[in-house]
Amino acid sequence: MTPASTLVDTQGRVVRDLRISVTDRCNLRCVYCMPAEGMPWLPKGDLLSYEEIARFTRVCLSLGVTGVRLTGGEPTVRADLPVLVRLLNDLAPDLDLSLTTNGLKLTTLAGELRAAGLKRVNVSLDTLDPQRFQQIARRDRFHEVIAGLAAARAAGLSPIKVNAVLMRDFNEDEVVPLARWARENGYELRFIEWMPLDFGHTWERWKLVPAAEIVARIHAEFPLEAARVTDPSAPATLYRYLDGGGSVGVIASVTRPFCGHCDRIRLTADGQIRTCLFSLKEYDFRRAMRAGAPDETIAEMLRAAVWRKEPGHLINSPYFKQPERGMSAIGG
Ligand code: SAM
Ligand code: SF4
Repeated sequence: MTPASTLVDTQGRVVRDLRISVTDRCNLRCVYCMPAEGMPWLPKGDLLSYEEIARFTRVCLSLGVTGVRLTGGEPTVRADLPVLVRLLNDLAPDLDLSLTTNGLKLTTLAGELRAAGLKRVNVSLDTLDPQRFQQIARRDRFHEVIAGLAAARAAGLSPIKVNAVLMRDFNEDEVVPLARWARENGYELRFIEWMPLDFGHTWERWKLVPAAEIVARIHAEFPLEAARVTDPSAPATLYRYLDGGGSVGVIASVTRPFCGHCDRIRLTADGQIRTCLFSLKEYDFRRAMRAGAPDETIAEMLRAAVWRKEPGHLINSPYFKQPERGMSAIGG
């Protein structure tokens, strides 16, 4: 592929991964993500249609994107998600097509999603205690997530990764129980450091549990060694259990930023491209597509946006400014 047909930025990074938020709405209200009430939902008419998403993705694929992750908000609350999965899979059956979900709807949707072409899934679960789940997610639905994980496995989605966010003095004691449970059940566990991207602006540095501490706590119970890096652009740093029990990952976005290897862009549910989770600028592709811009114009706009991709986030700098939109609207 010639350089002109790929998405390259000023740092020489090449974009390969497109995260698509299909909705900003959600059936949970996790404390690290959203306030209990008062979320400013997007008007329905502002959401890209599935055809618009597929068209935009087609242009991205022509520019070297090889992986697409559907996310949100909670992607499964948007009607007929398998229809979108099929449209995307039809674009390129070898596409690395994955989904990040809270898992609640997988009991009914996993089979259909798999049949439509979904390959793998990340399910978020921050505790093994139903009562604490209710405190974190503000909904009493723990058992549906566990059933959803089983449904994902039964449907043949593989691998199944589990994302967990830890908060100091809240669920930090879940580290080892979650690690044990994931080992026993064959799930690939990833701990994500809590980032200043919550709509309620409640993030404070002392409340995040640093990756180094997470690894040390697991290592004390189940000895670990750093795994060989096979994909430098993957956000998770992987550790192998010395007893052969698989691996566990940490996504140290705050304490060990990995921006230098970032290959991601994000399409929000309302059709804006963000070149970084922490971007303060968005590029309006919905307006361009609805104004009738041809594919070449969309491609040119995208190249120009990616060229200006931020070298890195500024969380650890005094100049950091939290973006107006939170993780659930950006597409985590
Ligand atoms: N609703 C789906 C879910 O929960 O998996 C998909 C969207 S959610 C925004 C994607 C991932 O981001 C989840 O694993 C969630 O735990 C994580 N997340 C949400 N807010 C976060 C924050 N402020 N910092 C770090 N991770 C966060
Ligand atoms: Fe919803 Fe996911 Fe945010 Fe939880 S983390 S409130 S499930 S979007």
